[in-house]
Amino acid sequence: MTLLVSIHDVTPALDQPVRRLWDLCAARGITPALLVIPDWHGAWALDAHPEFVAWVRARAAEGAELLLHGYRHDEVGLPRALRDEWRAWGRTDREGEFLTLDRAAAAERIGRGLELLRGLDLAPIGFVPPAWLAREDGFRAARDAGLPLSEDEAAVRFGPRRVPSPALRWSGRGALRARGSAVVAAARWRLHQGAALLRIALHPGDLGHPASARSVERELDRWLAVRAPVTYSSLA
Ligand SMILES: [Zn+2]
Repeated sequence: MTLLVSIHDVTPALDQPVRRLWDLCAARGITPALLVIPDWHGAWALDAHPEFVAWVRARAAEGAELLLHGYRHDEVGLPRALRDEWRAWGRTDREGEFLTLDRAAAAERIGRGLELLRGLDLAPIGFVPPAWLAREDGFRAARDAGLPLSEDEAAVRFGPRRVPSPALRWSGRGALRARGSAVVAAARWRLHQGAALLRIALHPGDLGHPASARSVERELDRWLAVRAPVTYSSLA
């Protein structure tokens, strides 16, 4: 029974909460994977924030796996079709950058993101679309770019092979969502006891409300007490 912990939305725009999430993990002896956004919302290009990049590089040197997490993360300039609205309903507040992208458009953004990261000596080992939303074409584009390791809401993916894995996640956007996500996370303690691989997906916003922040710590503690943390690479 294993556990995979990751920090989503690693960007200088969310510098402080990202570091706090890291510290929560480090205090428990775990090294989470970091899902890095090359240019959050088109306004936070990593290359303009050398101090943050140095922090990410230092975490990678400590063993943190890096994964490319979209290019800008949001859907600005990308109109949704009706089928996209259905897929994303209730899942994300227009933060599903890859939701609408075909293979060529996905390849273009993945290529640009890889170039930016590699130019900064950051070496991603996989690709995770923002909000876990992408068309199969998007995952194919990542594969074409040499990143077969990926994941969606229900599974970790190694190319066409999918390993089912439930994921705990929270929302700190407002008291109602924060409390609701804490209740759901607590219910999943029983629900997922039998899952071979469980993922805990931490987001900077989780710390935005005390209810979700407390729940994150509680779930980390009790899952770590009964499961061994693993890395993406060890699963591949
Ligand atoms: Zn994200």
